[in-house]
Amino acid sequence: MNHSGGGSSLGQDIDRLAKEVEPRVIEWRRDFHQNPELGNKEFRTSEKVAEHLRRLGMEVKTKVAHTGVVGILRGKKDTPVVALRADMDALPVTELADVPFASKNKGVMHACGHDAHTAILMGVTEVFSKLKDRLPGTVKFIFQPAEEGPPPGEEGGAYLMIKEGALESPKPDAIFGLHVSPLAPLGVIAFRAEGMLASADGFKVVVKGKGTHGAMPWAGVDPIVTASQIILGFQTIISRNTNLTVTPAVVTVGTIKGGTRANIIPGEVEMEGTTRGFEPAIRKEIHERMEKMAKSIAESAGATAEVTIFPGTPVTYNDPQLTAQMSPTLQRVAGPGKAVPAPQNTGAEDFAFFQEKIPGLFIILGTNPPGETPVPNHSPHFTIDESALVVGVRALSNLAVDFLESKK
Ligand SMILES: [Zn+2]
Ligand SMILES: [Zn+2]
Repeated sequence: MNHSGGGSSLGQDIDRLAKEVEPRVIEWRRDFHQNPELGNKEFRTSEKVAEHLRRLGMEVKTKVAHTGVVGILRGKKDTPVVALRADMDALPVTELADVPFASKNKGVMHACGHDAHTAILMGVTEVFSKLKDRLPGTVKFIFQPAEEGPPPGEEGGAYLMIKEGALESPKPDAIFGLHVSPLAPLGVIAFRAEGMLASADGFKVVVKGKGTHGAMPWAGVDPIVTASQIILGFQTIISRNTNLTVTPAVVTVGTIKGGTRANIIPGEVEMEGTTRGFEPAIRKEIHERMEKMAKSIAESAGATAEVTIFPGTPVTYNDPQLTAQMSPTLQRVAGPGKAVPAPQNTGAEDFAFFQEKIPGLFIILGTNPPGETPVPNHSPHFTIDESALVVGVRALSNLAVDFLESKK
């Protein structure tokens, strides 16, 4: 039975314990904020996390996907299993925010709020360690490195954690995660079923023609004109082919390189870009059409085109059934009128990799200080109102418990 509508007695204890741990969550968040670390290098952060989990007597696995930490807390029975995830990495940004705990690590900043996510999830572990004997299942805590992407040439993030077994033994039945955002008002929880954040994939197109004198184009095959036609062709995939009533999508060519001199037609042009979408099937369709279109346009010009897709982050896809099921929990946690539908966002989030394997729900937690103009994530001025942190602790704790109770 699902008690989430009215709030179980566990729910009330969670809210009380969350309030108790709030000062420490703020303290942890400031400590992480002051000591930010880049993806795959979250050595200090993960050490702090692991130490905390061990102190609570949890089963702890470290060095998952380089610096990831997985903690397992078994309640009064082993199953069902629910997973909660926080990311730990910072960004190569020089902090300009006016806070007393500004980054001490020059050129590195928690400009996306992952310090808050890590501190919130540590708060949840603290809350649950006090309710252990009453938990109707097992909770798996996933502290993930490199959400913003691993350094060039390295693997990392959610994808690598899964590859290294983060979703095995025990396998969670569902996963929850959150992201702080100044785009939502303080304490508001925003979410939507299905595609919430976009898939983000890279691509490269190499167009090969035949170089010649710029005054005698008929003596060669011009890859610059061909590349231009391919760019325009790509734009028709969204405007003419994919069903815009189902979902929006984006194809952007971000670089075009070719040629060395005004009066020489070069032999080759290279382009790079990114695609975004909210529907796994349409994501696939866009890539297939790009390949076909580039090749046929090139062929018609007597050139060749080679398209390489670099699969990036999948769609952050909130399982519709799970979202509907957990909605009353979020309504209760946020309070009247403060659990709201989230707009789709063409940014990406690698929580999506977990959601490809098991049903998941990702939510946005509003952190904008009242009356202030929102400063977006990744800005050197990014900051959060810390009074939202306890809402995050309550949200993840209640989602986990209500989910476990619904399965018993
Ligand atoms: Zn980010
Ligand atoms: Zn982020």
